Amino acid sequence: MKPHKISACVLDMDGVLYLDETPRPGAVQLLACLRSRQVPYAYLTNNASRSAAQYVARLNALGLDREASEAQVITSAQVAVAWLHKNFPRSARVLLVGEPSFRNLLLREGFALTEAPDADVVVVGFDTALTYAKLAAASLAIRRGARFIGTNPDTTYPTPEGLLPGTGSILAAIEAATGVQPTVMGKPHRPPFEEALRRLAQPAGQTIMIGDRLETDIAGGQGAGMITGFVLGGASSEADLAQNPIQPDYVFQDVEHLARWCEEVF
Ligand SMILES: [Mg+2]
Repeated sequence: MKPHKISACVLDMDGVLYLDETPRPGAVQLLACLRSRQVPYAYLTNNASRSAAQYVARLNALGLDREASEAQVITSAQVAVAWLHKNFPRSARVLLVGEPSFRNLLLREGFALTEAPDADVVVVGFDTALTYAKLAAASLAIRRGARFIGTNPDTTYPTPEGLLPGTGSILAAIEAATGVQPTVMGKPHRPPFEEALRRLAQPAGQTIMIGDRLETDIAGGQGAGMITGFVLGGASSEADLAQNPIQPDYVFQDVEHLARWCEEVF
């Protein structure tokens, strides 16, 4: 391994800190280490199904981080909303396929929601209440010319039972139905990494991005000029790593390994 000067840390959450509702062994120690050594850190998730406040509550409830603040949490829903503000007027009508927290965020930001096919933009995030009616409404709007936006490309969602369909799978269904490719926010695209570095006020070259997916966390971290750490046992296996041209700076067998490394480095 190359030696790096590391002064800050950006953490993916799903698959790294927990699998669905179950904290991964070592995650409590990892966060205790970052706090006790006063390492600036942020949470960066491609999951758009919860708000920053809900993530803070969840980190608290799981006993992972009782001092987490909303300012530390960057979600792909926030990134998508920033993109909408840049590219559409506030009067734009948005057709959402997503969870209630995302709906509330869009309403708070002043966007008008619609289920009609004359929507200006279709925004798709993780949706555990996905129905055929929602897929149909999204497809009709895109066929009538609405822009097609996805919060994140992750095709799967890691849980203790195994990998469940993620946002990327919902995007794939709508893409198959319309022949239109979505514009996808979130990791591996630059905006969420830039936002994390801005909030941490740390240089990219001294900040490590830690995640369990090569295509999003690691490729995106590398694209943003960050150091990268890959944790096995979440969304990816050793075989995925062996076959992939994307190679991280550090590989951790599990989160306990990562926590021990944290204690050595910081
Ligand atoms: Mg993950």
